[in-house]
Amino acid sequence: MMIQTVTVIGAGQMGSGIAQTLAQNGLQVTLYDIEQAAVTKGIATINSSLTRLAAKGNISEADRTQTIKSIIPSTDLICANRSDLIIEAAPENMTMKKALFEKLDRICQPNAILATNTSSLSITEIASATKRASRVIGMHFMNPVPIMPLVEIIKGLETSSNTYEKIKALTLTIKKTPIEVQDFPGFVSNRILMPMINEAIYTVYEGVAEPEAVDQVMKLGMNHPMGPLTLADFIGLDTCLAIMETLQAGFGDSKYRPCPLLRKYVQAGWLGRKAGRGFYVYSNEKG
Ligand code: NAD
Repeated sequence: MMIQTVTVIGAGQMGSGIAQTLAQNGLQVTLYDIEQAAVTKGIATINSSLTRLAAKGNISEADRTQTIKSIIPSTDLICANRSDLIIEAAPENMTMKKALFEKLDRICQPNAILATNTSSLSITEIASATKRASRVIGMHFMNPVPIMPLVEIIKGLETSSNTYEKIKALTLTIKKTPIEVQDFPGFVSNRILMPMINEAIYTVYEGVAEPEAVDQVMKLGMNHPMGPLTLADFIGLDTCLAIMETLQAGFGDSKYRPCPLLRKYVQAGWLGRKAGRGFYVYSNEKG
């Protein structure tokens, strides 16, 4: 069975990017969110991204129209019941993800594959909420999805080779590069990236330097395209905190302790770009 229809769960920054990328590559997509406002915003984000691409001549007007037509918005989870694949991109919270997977397992076709875009959580534990652990897998896209080429593919303890091969083939179909990694906290990407971001936050917390200076050091000195605090704001500080907590709990090593300043910003609702404020202020967005 080829994967032709996909439901994306969560229409935030990742879910909308995943839906756009799938639709641009000929898949039929349903974009679900628990919040109507989030679905509306997700579709608007996709629309403006496609309009920009068409204006630059990167896609044709016909492709733009076809892509947007291929994405059906929904706020009813039952919409997942006819899809070959479900990709979950709800917040980075194990309790929420397990509740969603338990429901999806009941709603979806028996052969459907349930994938999660989690940044760090155990695929094996998410799969335990279902009766189809062999058809549960991690599909970790990078942000912004339409631009970044990598998808980390993570097999849980019981994920079958058949499931892995289908997801690898789909990843190639949507013109991304699949890299197989094992199911350990943070996989490879966030086990390496997030401690660096956390350490950058510590340098601000301890008064070593201002956020702008920290970012400039890493851009000009290390040739990073974006400073770590700009990147943290872009990822979402709630997501960064959740990943550090997963690393700390999963490895039981104090080197992964989240910086208290990161925790404080999240408590204040300073979640980064999506909230209008994080290490920087984004005046053109809500907040
Ligand atoms: P986000 O906050 O932008 O979007 C999350 C969306 O999920 C929101 O629209 C929210 O309304 C919706 N939601 C909340 N509860 C829900 C539920 N029960 N069912 C369905 N939808 C629900 O978050 P994001 O940055 O898109 O992250 C989503 C997932 O992707 C997380 O697991 C995160 O770790 C992972 N991820 C994030 C990045 C990144 O850079 N932000 C990169 C890779 C992976």
